[in-house]
Amino acid sequence: MTGPTSGTRPDEIRRHNRTALLRRLHVDGPSTRASLAAELGLNRSTIKALVDGLAEAGVVAERVPAQRSGAGRPSLLVLPQPHAAVVIAIDVRVEQVAMGFVGLGGEILGRDSWNLHHRTRDPGEVITHIVESARLMADDLDVTAVGVGVSVPGVVRRSDGQVHEAPNLHWSGVALGKRLEAVLKLPVQVGNDAELGALAEHVRGAAQSSSDMVYISADVGVGGGVILSGQPLRGAGGYVGELGHMVVRPGGRRCYCGCEGCWETEVGEPALCRALGLPDDAPRGAVVAALRALDDPSVLNEFADWLALGLANIVNVLGPELVVLGDLYTALPASLVDSVGTVVQQRSLVSRAVGGTQIVTSPLGRDAKLIGAAELAFEPVLDAL
Ligand SMILES: [Zn+2]
Repeated sequence: MTGPTSGTRPDEIRRHNRTALLRRLHVDGPSTRASLAAELGLNRSTIKALVDGLAEAGVVAERVPAQRSGAGRPSLLVLPQPHAAVVIAIDVRVEQVAMGFVGLGGEILGRDSWNLHHRTRDPGEVITHIVESARLMADDLDVTAVGVGVSVPGVVRRSDGQVHEAPNLHWSGVALGKRLEAVLKLPVQVGNDAELGALAEHVRGAAQSSSDMVYISADVGVGGGVILSGQPLRGAGGYVGELGHMVVRPGGRRCYCGCEGCWETEVGEPALCRALGLPDDAPRGAVVAALRALDDPSVLNEFADWLALGLANIVNVLGPELVVLGDLYTALPASLVDSVGTVVQQRSLVSRAVGGTQIVTSPLGRDAKLIGAAELAFEPVLDAL
């Protein structure tokens, strides 16, 4: 939403301010009326009118803060009410679906998850299970959801949630958004998993104070979500971020995309399994356990070299101040992540110019895409509350 312009009607300004106030409370949590007024650049009477309206609607509650400062009347603390707006967040992974009911303010009120295998990975099966689980959870929690956000590891058209291709799920041309809307009778937003990982890190994770960041998702495939100047980077039709398919090794291993030597053939989960002496398709638990029990980190040297090479390319092209490594990469030894950061700085002109791009592992871990899916669902909800 853009700022008020000359000729804007008073009710439009009020709606704009109300959305800004709700977004601030949803993202940063409880705050006093006085700090809300200062942060949003509104006078106290405007904040009072907005908060009173939201309190009457049950969207926020107010209480006297426990810690009083000064002798005057304390500024009331404004708290978002989680049950005032609840969304369903769904993270479709290659081996599992994770689902959560998330309240205003970001609290995960309830969770469910189930494993996928060959038969249950069929889109129809996944949709049926989502709908059943959503009904059970809504009954258990005694809430009515107002929107749905879905993360899918594939190429997704944001306008209508069409999954163009999700190779690791063996999905192609799946009208996921429309099919879920038809059965759940709720607005459904579908996004690429790495893009939603970036959104989650930007709103609630490592990148809250970074306007230029890249999130790397690393499951069976490797992808990227990019935020530049505080805005998600979108390509033609919204398709962008297939960082795993940068060709880094001409004549290298064949990738399912049809090319040879894509970055993810060297840094995806099967490559990490090979480096650890595990079968290519070892279960995630075994890979993480092997990483934690690693006696000789040098077995990962070649993997680390490929990781650093790809990241140096990404940093040179996009110029982020921060790169967040997600999913499987959160289990990498800290020393490996540090040395990759050093190599990236040595190899990247851009990184040297900005005094070193920070490379960190995701503090949100496995929940990043679930949180990102919730934030995607909240975007239209906050405007409408
Ligand atoms: Zn490829």
